[in-house]
Amino acid sequence: MNYLSTRGDTTPRKFCDILLEGLAPDGGLYLPARYPQIDAATLGHWRQLHAQHGYAALAFEILSLYIDDIPAADLKALCEKTYTAEVFGTPETVPLKKLRDASTGSARTDFYLQALSNGPTLAFKDMAMQLLGNLFEYELQRRGEQLNILGATSGDTGSAAEYAMRGKQGIRVFMLSPHGRMSAFQQAQMFSLMDANIHNIAIEGVFDDCQDIVKAVSNDLAFKRRYKIGTVNSINWARLLAQVVYYFAGYFQATQSNDDKVSFTVPSGNFGNVCAGHVARQMGLPIDQLVVATNENDVLDEFFRTGVYRVRGSADTHETSSPSMDISKASNFERFVFDLVGRDGARTKALFHDALAKDGRFDLSGDAAFAQVHQRYGFVSGKSTHADRLATIRDVFAKHGVMIDTHTADGVKVAREHLQPGVPMIVLETALPIKFAATIREALGRDPERPAKFDGIEGLPRRVRVLPADVARVQQLMAEACR
Ligand SMILES: *Cc1c(COP(=O)(O)O)cnc(C)c1O
Repeated sequence: MNYLSTRGDTTPRKFCDILLEGLAPDGGLYLPARYPQIDAATLGHWRQLHAQHGYAALAFEILSLYIDDIPAADLKALCEKTYTAEVFGTPETVPLKKLRDASTGSARTDFYLQALSNGPTLAFKDMAMQLLGNLFEYELQRRGEQLNILGATSGDTGSAAEYAMRGKQGIRVFMLSPHGRMSAFQQAQMFSLMDANIHNIAIEGVFDDCQDIVKAVSNDLAFKRRYKIGTVNSINWARLLAQVVYYFAGYFQATQSNDDKVSFTVPSGNFGNVCAGHVARQMGLPIDQLVVATNENDVLDEFFRTGVYRVRGSADTHETSSPSMDISKASNFERFVFDLVGRDGARTKALFHDALAKDGRFDLSGDAAFAQVHQRYGFVSGKSTHADRLATIRDVFAKHGVMIDTHTADGVKVAREHLQPGVPMIVLETALPIKFAATIREALGRDPERPAKFDGIEGLPRRVRVLPADVARVQQLMAEACR
């Protein structure tokens, strides 16, 4: 399989060429040259394989179609090392929880939560990041190279990256977070890591200051080359690919036969998670609808309703109680639009480079392609507010005795608006409630359940350096750590 850029650069690249990279050199995102097509026989085989041998075996089959520059035995070993019951909490890895949704009035619509948040940091990002950690270590060892990962986080990404990279050969992580602004649990999760290769840096400022520092360091090309700076952000193709697997696993659990269809609802921010659903659907997985759920930051909902994609300024990006979906633009969205406009790189570049830079928006409402969004690609959308979130958390707890987190609540709220008789609906559970305890208390008047392994985490010793929002100070700390 070769990879190309969404902005027209068709220089063929292999999986491991793009694994350690961010954007393509022309500023686009990497995608496979084509989506492998899964015929009925293969889907039947995978259903059996998943039932008998589990998630890691299924992951190996799917990844093999996209990765031909890692020997099969090695790739299999990497999948088996990653997707264990020990790391992900259950032998099923991504089990479905069935909620019969009384509010729909339709007894025939099965309603499920797919548990993706039982990994080390209790958010779905572990599903991809744990694999990425093992892939990075493997490839760096093969090349005899080192990598220093620099990132900015407001919560879930940073902790998932640190738990994936801790103790890995050849890798250091420098993670910037806004000092005092993450939830107490998230801070405890990250700062209690004692691994020598993990460096937590709390910046006296807000998340944007952290991101600006990451950009400034990455734009310092001499520094970047000297210290081999890399990233693990959500545009990384390997992360997206890893996420494709759980759409198949969810489908097999919710259906009896490959003639059945399911729909997925995905709490969305940067469009990475639901883009993996799009890839699964393009491969031929029988997905009816892909429902994009947003919070008050409704950039994506606006596009899917109107055809207008309008990025927000920092002044109109809201801080919400589902903070991992607080985005001003959706960094993976370009991948879908590239497919939507018939994989026309010049057109994609005109939209994402020229129109967005000039006007901060583009409009496909009058374009024939936009009609395909629903008909051919199955996308629909909806949004949720703080009040909806509270009401949904209360309702699901009262009716089903299940406590859901704020992001998953946005998904459930929007999923209920898109149920089709006879088509099972699967809402992806993107985090556990313990990560967002304040809103759970507001909704339910009680503390969220806490998995036993996190008992007392807030009291553990911490390893974190507090620095002013100053690029030079961060570079100095990095240089010292690399000595
Ligand atoms: C990252 C995250 C999301 C958004 O996922 P995208 O891939 O950016 O769309 C939703 N919920 C939680 C809990 C997250 O951590």
